[in-house]
Amino acid sequence: VQQWSAVAHSPIVLWFERALLPEGWQAGVRLEIAEGRVARVQWQAPAQPNDIRYRIGIPGMPNAHSHAFQRAMSGLTERRGAANDDFWSWREWMYRFVDRMTPDDIEAVTRFAYVEMLESGFTHVGEFHYVHNAPQGARYADRAETSLRVMAAARDAGIGLTLLPVLYRYGGFGAAPIAERQRRFALDVDDYLALIEQLSSHAATVGFSLGLAPHSLRAVGPAELAAIVATRGSRPIHIHAAEQLAEVNACTAWSGQRPVEWLLTHYSLDDRWCLVHATHLNDVELTQLAASGATVAACPITEANLGDGVFRAEEFLHAKGALAIGSDSNVEIGVAAELRLLEYSRRLQVRRRNILASPERASTARRLFEQCVFGGARALGNAAYGLAAGGRADVIALDASHIAMLGRDDDDWLASWIFGAAPVVTDVWAGGKHVVQNGRHRQRAAIESVYRSTLQKLLS
Ligand SMILES: [Zn+2]
Repeated sequence: VQQWSAVAHSPIVLWFERALLPEGWQAGVRLEIAEGRVARVQWQAPAQPNDIRYRIGIPGMPNAHSHAFQRAMSGLTERRGAANDDFWSWREWMYRFVDRMTPDDIEAVTRFAYVEMLESGFTHVGEFHYVHNAPQGARYADRAETSLRVMAAARDAGIGLTLLPVLYRYGGFGAAPIAERQRRFALDVDDYLALIEQLSSHAATVGFSLGLAPHSLRAVGPAELAAIVATRGSRPIHIHAAEQLAEVNACTAWSGQRPVEWLLTHYSLDDRWCLVHATHLNDVELTQLAASGATVAACPITEANLGDGVFRAEEFLHAKGALAIGSDSNVEIGVAAELRLLEYSRRLQVRRRNILASPERASTARRLFEQCVFGGARALGNAAYGLAAGGRADVIALDASHIAMLGRDDDDWLASWIFGAAPVVTDVWAGGKHVVQNGRHRQRAAIESVYRSTLQKLLS
């Protein structure tokens, strides 16, 4: 019965023995899906003959921050160079790699990264997209060339997309000129706003949403940021902030303020803002940022890989902050792995266990998971979140019969997935489409084959 067909049943109904709803774990859950959204939720309801049946259902996870093209570099930068390796030496390597990529390559790598995201349980991605130009900075005939490739990749893979075209204007704080290797990313504000204008009509027709992404305070000056914020309407705004200590120090030298402090002083941040990383916050910044309603997109695997630092997630949640996760560099793609590392990084620092649990929510896995579903939806501009009427039909089915799930139920299923790293994601529905079946993306073979030849060409 687990065959997806939009034509055969309208609406499609998924039925779960147990599912995690905003109301908690419920038995006999029926989710009616129409036009990619959850139309109706019932529980303690028997399965009907045409229902597609599963044992365990949980919401899909938003991925609030991705640079999909970087997936192709995974594993290629893990050897020590001449100097001290850090974020900045990694960035040089990344610049050399991206210089080889054509729009076809960007599309092929992005599409494959999205397949892997879906297989791991990410159902909607915020693509922080900054490779706008041809190598050496020449313009494509269509200024939206690479943005349209990202949209095509998301459509083929069947993942939800909030495209976040990036304005990258300067090479450093104080309007430092763009470096040679950054010319593929560079736009001026007029180009950028024209790009947004062009994409906004297109995104709506293909069912994707659009946000704005001033890259960082080092790559965008106060005037450019003001111009972007002035045109935002209701769109989300994402910005990298306080990822690296060197960046915090350079910002302080430039403005007398730390990056997050600068943003809090100059803008009334609200729930449409998403600050990516926010790894280095002082106590005042942490408290004020949480109170602002802005989301923090933590990217634990990438932050660990690049040696950035650790986000104080439990303090941020305690201050009622909105928290999301992002796969960022995509060196590894995994919902469970990101959540696990978010918790483990803090355990290693504070030498306690179950850091992200709370008095109201004793299960660490459950609190991590639910908070990041909520924060991720907010960051990507989705009003509804979780398995609730009106929300995107983003659903994961977990394998109740896997040996790692034996003798568990409810919150401990989540914990066995997240902390036991058991491969229990069997089926994924994204925007009402059945994209992953029995652990495999349904188009994986075709998409992987194009990715394989792309990678062979890029590495030759
Ligand atoms: Zn990033």
